[in-house]
Amino acid sequence: MDADVGIIGVGTMGSMAAWQLSKRGVSVLGFEQFGIGNDRTAAGGESRLFRTAYMEGAEYVPLLIEAKKLWRELEKESGKSLLTLNGGLMIGEKDSPPIKAILESIDNYKLEHEILDIKQASKKYPQFKYFANDLVILDKEAGFIRPELSVVSATYLAINKGAKIKQYTTVQKIIPDSNGVTIIANGESYRVRKVVITTGAWTVNLLPELKDKLMPRRLLLTWFIPKNIDDTKPEKLPVFARMRGDFRLTGTPTLDGTMVKASFTKEPLPVDNPKELHRDVYSEEILKLRDSVETLLPAVYPDPVRSSAYMDAYTPDNHAVLGTIPGLKEVVIASGFSGHGFKLAPIIGKIISEIIIDGKTTKNIKNLSPERFVDSFHLI
Ligand SMILES: Cc1cc2nc3c(=O)[nH]c(=O)nc-3n(C[C@H](O)[C@H](O)[C@H](O)COP(=O)(O)OP(=O)(O)OC[C@H]3O[C@@H](n4cnc5c(N)ncnc54)[C@H](O)[C@@H]3O)c2cc1C
Repeated sequence: MDADVGIIGVGTMGSMAAWQLSKRGVSVLGFEQFGIGNDRTAAGGESRLFRTAYMEGAEYVPLLIEAKKLWRELEKESGKSLLTLNGGLMIGEKDSPPIKAILESIDNYKLEHEILDIKQASKKYPQFKYFANDLVILDKEAGFIRPELSVVSATYLAINKGAKIKQYTTVQKIIPDSNGVTIIANGESYRVRKVVITTGAWTVNLLPELKDKLMPRRLLLTWFIPKNIDDTKPEKLPVFARMRGDFRLTGTPTLDGTMVKASFTKEPLPVDNPKELHRDVYSEEILKLRDSVETLLPAVYPDPVRSSAYMDAYTPDNHAVLGTIPGLKEVVIASGFSGHGFKLAPIIGKIISEIIIDGKTTKNIKNLSPERFVDSFHLI
C-alpha cells in the first residue's frame, strides 16, 4: 500500500479532508492536477462569502455553526487569518423564496441578526438602492473567507503531519477491488486502502456516468471601482446578496482598497467540457451585469475592471453529493457543491475523515446522500 487513503483532487474539499485525516494519524496520498491553491479551481478569486442564515436551506445551519469552529481551528493551527465576520446583508423581495429561507434559518436556530426597514437601511447602507417591497436582513454571523490561503494552509498542515501530495498529477482512473483501490495517475499506478473523490467540476471526467448529476457550470467573478473607497471598506460594507427578480448580485467589500467584488451567481452557464472553460466575458453578460449594478449597487461605477471565470459542479437539486458511493464501499465522494460549498469546507473535510475512519458520521447529511442519484455503481 502507498497510503491508507488516496485523495483525488486537492482543491477546496480535498485539502480539508487531507488536513482532517492527517490530524487523526491516517496516511494520505493526494493527487492534484494543478499546483496547490491554484486559481483555476473553485477556490480562486480572492474571497468567498460565509453566511449562517442560509437561503439554501435551514438544515445547513448546524453544519455552518460547526464549520465556523473549524475555520477558527484552522486559523489557530496555521497562524493565518482566514475568516472575517463583518456581517452579511441579505436584501430581497419580502416574499421571495431565499428571503423566506433565511428567516426560517434565523427562527429555527435563533441566529443573531437585525432586520432593517428601507428607511433604516438607506441610512446605514447607502451603497445599495432599495425598493418598496424589499426586506433587509443583517446576518451577524456572516463575512468573507480567503480561499486560496485556506487551501494552501490546510494542505501544508497535512503535509507537516506526513501527507504526501503529488502536484501536477492528473488521475485518469480508479480501480477498486476487494483489497483496496488502484489509482492510475500520469501513467503510474498506486495502491491505497480507500479513496476520496474531491474533483469538483472535473468529476465528470473521472465518473462520466454521473454527468447529468454533477454538471460543471461556469461562474464569472467581476470587480468594480467604488465611487468612494471608504464607504466600501469591510467596516462599512458587509458582504452582501442583493436579490431582485432574476438578479442575484453577491459580493464583498473592498479587500485590496481599490475594488469591490460583485458578481452574478444565479443559474451559471453549463460547461460541456471542464478542460475547455470559456474564460473570456460574453458581451451579453457585461450588459446584464452593468444594468443590475447600476440599478442595485450605485456605490460603484458600473463597468467591471477585472473579471475571471471559474467552475463548480452543480447537482439537479443544488445540494452536494457526500458519502460512500453505493456499491463501492472503499470510495467516498464529496462533490457537486453547486456554488455554495466553500464556507462548509472544513466541516466537509471532517465528515469525510469520520466516514473513512469510523465508517459513519454523527452529522446530519441526509440531504447530501449519494443514494438520491445513484443506486449501485460500477467504476470498471
Ligand atoms: C466563482 C465562484 C464563487 C463562489 N462563491 C462562493 C461563496 O461565496 N461562498 C461559498 O460558500 N461557496 C462559493 N462557491 C462555491 C465553492 O467555492 C465551491 O463549492 C467549492 O470550492 C468546491 O470545492 P471542490 O473541492 O468541490 O472543488 P475544487 O476546489 O475545484 O477542487 C477540485 C480539485 O480537484 C482537482 N482535480 C480535478 N480532477 C482531477 C484529477 N483527475 N486528478 C487530479 N486532480 C484533479 C482540481 O484541479 C481541483 O484542485 C463559489 C464557487 C465559484 C466557482
